[in-house]
Amino acid sequence: MSIQDEVKKRKTFAIISHPDAGKTTLTERLLLFGNLIQSAGTVKGKKSGKFATSDWMEIEKQRGISVTSSVMNFPYDGYQVNILDTPGHEDFSEDTYRTLTAVDSVVMIIDATKGIESQTIKLFKVCRMRGIPIFTFINKLDREGREPLELLEEIEQVLDIETYPMNWPAGMGKRFLGTFDRHEKQFVQYNGNEEETYIPYNNLDNPEYQELIAQEAFQLANDELSLLDEAGDKFSLNTVLSGKQTPVFFGSALAPFGLQTFFDTFISMAPAPAPRKSTEGAIQPDNPDFSGFIFKIQANMNPAHRDRVAFLRVCSGKFERGMSVKLARNNKLIKLSQSQQFVASSRDTIEEAYAGDIIGIYDPNAYQIGDTLIEGKDLFEYEELPKFPPEIFKKVTAKNVMKSKQYRKGIEQLVQEGAIQLYYQHRTDSFILGAVGELQYEVFKYRMKNEYNVEVLLESIGEKVPRWLQADQVDESLFDEQNLLVRDREGNYIVLFRNEFALRWFKDKNPNVELIDLLEVN
Ligand code: GDP
Repeated sequence: MSIQDEVKKRKTFAIISHPDAGKTTLTERLLLFGNLIQSAGTVKGKKSGKFATSDWMEIEKQRGISVTSSVMNFPYDGYQVNILDTPGHEDFSEDTYRTLTAVDSVVMIIDATKGIESQTIKLFKVCRMRGIPIFTFINKLDREGREPLELLEEIEQVLDIETYPMNWPAGMGKRFLGTFDRHEKQFVQYNGNEEETYIPYNNLDNPEYQELIAQEAFQLANDELSLLDEAGDKFSLNTVLSGKQTPVFFGSALAPFGLQTFFDTFISMAPAPAPRKSTEGAIQPDNPDFSGFIFKIQANMNPAHRDRVAFLRVCSGKFERGMSVKLARNNKLIKLSQSQQFVASSRDTIEEAYAGDIIGIYDPNAYQIGDTLIEGKDLFEYEELPKFPPEIFKKVTAKNVMKSKQYRKGIEQLVQEGAIQLYYQHRTDSFILGAVGELQYEVFKYRMKNEYNVEVLLESIGEKVPRWLQADQVDESLFDEQNLLVRDREGNYIVLFRNEFALRWFKDKNPNVELIDLLEVN
């Protein structure tokens, strides 16, 4: 098969949601479709309490699926499906954001009983920033939830994206009858089990369906549907692919209901790998020379070795195990002899891969996040990965001042690797660390001790709201211990506002100071 044909088959996506919306349950259903698991309920158990902070392997073990199945891949209906996990819960970290730089589309799960929640908004903003097409699955229709029209309105208003319901639910919870499939023009009846009945619109007049269509929930949904047909946005695949319209599917991951239709439609519409921007212009995915970039580095995955695995997204050409590539940052030649693919709980060796695929490569301490690896003669680098705003900040010091050399070296390397972010407090130059989630601190502390033999002290300065500032707009008198002025490693000024309220107050008082939110940058 040609490289071009291989690329066309690839569907690489992530599932984003707020914790408990049903990501694990839905993922499991997709793995069933891919025959990767035999029954639902097998990838559970990740939420078995808090991990022990003292033991890295314990962290790994407790995190279960989110580590070993960082990437799940399987053939489906002629396609090669790659699902990237976006760790949530206590694992929410910068890696969760960075994963979104390696996918071609995203499935956003919304809990029908709750609507849009905070983590969904953050992850959505990253997708928006990168123009990633978003497909929405509104989950838990088997429970009494919010009105479907209200949910759509919320998506449009809060996320500022057009919605197009692909199906429309008749009732919810105990009254749930099924959905109108606008795409296939059929009513999909919910029978209270895995079997769904597909009734073409034309057949709904048949006497056997009289009872169904007489029900209030059916009538109401039918009326709403007419309203949507007349006044709602029209479906446009181009608008979807440019990230400005989201197709919305209603269903239930648990019941289960509506999953086959959702997945089939999603897979047929989701984009295959596209050309990717580089310092030498766009690189075509079917370009014969292999290239890719590293979006995540995971330390100590193997208990027997203290090794690291770098996650690489293939962007062009053909990856073959044992091939030699150049690290574009320093033009060094590296042989990729150890490579892994991640499937559910096992890791298989991978022999070849194409654009869209994710491979795990052994990291001899050579890689940084964002690194480009290339095979051809032409040197280029893929565009830099964006910076993501941390939310939790802590002052860091070494417990033992005699160890300041290792301390600095450790911090420098871990920061460079992208494990955590470093800031300098203005004037005092104290070190302040920033992370998206607590887990990053656990890992930082553990690795400082185990890899650099330094015990660190972390002093929480709480959750802050960071905003970047132009250097010529820095007026020190405006900031204090509450709204802290710091610099990042590139020397940019940042204010760590005490909270959203302090930020709004500051904006009101200083309308001329331009504050930059990294999640709003295009
Ligand atoms: P995650 O945190 O997003 O991975 O969510 P999970 O998949 O672990 O689901 C969280 C809880 O919601 C679990 O108790 C699931 O059984 C439940 N759940 C998931 N999908 C549905 C659904 O469609 N209907 C109902 N009633 N519960 C669901």
